[in-house]
Amino acid sequence: MTIYQNLIAGEWIGTNATKNINPSDTNEVVGLYADGSAEDTKNAIAAAKAAFPAWSRSGIWERHVILKKAGDEIMARKDELGALLAREEGKTLPEAIGETIRASQIFEFFAGEALRLAGEVIPSVRPNVGVEITRDPLGVIGIITPWNFPIAIPAWKIAPALCYGNTIVFKPAELVPACSWAIVDILHRAGLPKGVLNLVMGKGSVVGQAMLDSPDIAGITFTGSTGTGKRVAVSSLEHNRKFQLEMGGKNPMVVLDDADLNVAVEAAANSGFFSTGQRCTASSRLIVTEGIHDRFVAALTEKLKTIVVDHAMKPGTHVGPVVDERQLKTDTDYIEIGKKEGAKLAFGGELITRDTPGFYLQPTLFTEATNQMRISREEIFGPVVSVIRVKDYEEALATANDTPFGLSSGIATTSLKHATHFKRNAEAGMVMVNLPTAGVDFHVPFGGRKGSSYGPREQGKYAAEFYTTVKTAYTLA
Ligand code: ADP
Repeated sequence: MTIYQNLIAGEWIGTNATKNINPSDTNEVVGLYADGSAEDTKNAIAAAKAAFPAWSRSGIWERHVILKKAGDEIMARKDELGALLAREEGKTLPEAIGETIRASQIFEFFAGEALRLAGEVIPSVRPNVGVEITRDPLGVIGIITPWNFPIAIPAWKIAPALCYGNTIVFKPAELVPACSWAIVDILHRAGLPKGVLNLVMGKGSVVGQAMLDSPDIAGITFTGSTGTGKRVAVSSLEHNRKFQLEMGGKNPMVVLDDADLNVAVEAAANSGFFSTGQRCTASSRLIVTEGIHDRFVAALTEKLKTIVVDHAMKPGTHVGPVVDERQLKTDTDYIEIGKKEGAKLAFGGELITRDTPGFYLQPTLFTEATNQMRISREEIFGPVVSVIRVKDYEEALATANDTPFGLSSGIATTSLKHATHFKRNAEAGMVMVNLPTAGVDFHVPFGGRKGSSYGPREQGKYAAEFYTTVKTAYTLA
């Protein structure tokens, strides 16, 4: 089998490899992908550092052309790349193709942004002095990504880093190297100079740690667990390095008595269970007022009966498998915890067998949960959702905000008054009205507050805040 190698200083290298396994069918090896060392990582950082002076001064048209070519190729190959994604991560083929299209759109967006780089010229308070405010690239950016969006998250970090003139050392998650390899290959062939984008696949404890320990990385953008995020933060402070963290969520969706029942059920089923509940914006707490509670639970349970869990590539599958054995154990452990804590298992909770050996779990719904239970406070990252019954809107809002996290927060209501109040008072980076908490646009800011995120927002023009540093220049005329 071919080994998909690491790209360091413009050369494909690496002879050690690990298997990329399909979670829908653990007999299927998606490919062999290089397992980089600390030495490889150091070489990649040195290559990115050496490439920075020229790339940081590259013309905006060159950046535009490369980013646009990458966006165009990803779109042209959306079915093939979507299938690769579905095979390595386990989300369904339509979801995977949708994510691939989004990656393409992100490259197209930043291809446009490259042509819109601008500064400000303002008068000084001193006569005959001019002030210019510009944005410089940061330097070498370390990109560390998780497994749940194997193509979109790399895209939304790589595209702005290149657009604003930075060079990159990119380490994807161990479980999903294939899509990362594909987009690095596309960018390499699109004409990026040697060393501008380096790919080091491998273990977090080896490759990731070597990135954290390097004084030559000017900024690290990280999406992953809270524990690793803290390590990124501590190491970055030691090196006086900029960092940006996207971590967990425990996203609430409030359902009020006046909600349109269909809208509420569709939004809850989508954000709780699609993509196997493995989205950081997934709703895992459904906070439902008394008047609609029983009708909502009954309708949602009926809906869950229709959700087909099966092989990600099979037509008709709504929800694919859990990503791996470790995550499946986390999910089933939390299901046991929920039962012991006294929540009522209203639907699911069991492993399922399908034609192929994979990590299949029923969509699982707990009712009669309280917001103090561990299943309501800790991120599970699986298709496990709890319903919390509340008296009224005021209690619903307070419960929604009573969490260590603050990524996305949703409400289903037909009341303008409550929707407006919720938008203003939800303690979250993103608020959704009559929409799933998951599912965001590619051209506007993404991110959260409290324990979910740290640093400037990602995506859209707000991405410049992380990937650049501001310079104020004074000139005597
Ligand atoms: P998860 O538990 O969801 O896999 P992690 O935070 O462990 O989340 O993984 C997110 C990313 O962080 C992955 O690319 C992983 O390899 C990387 N990572 C894990 N440990 C470290 C570490 N010590 N230093 C840097 N990166 C790491």
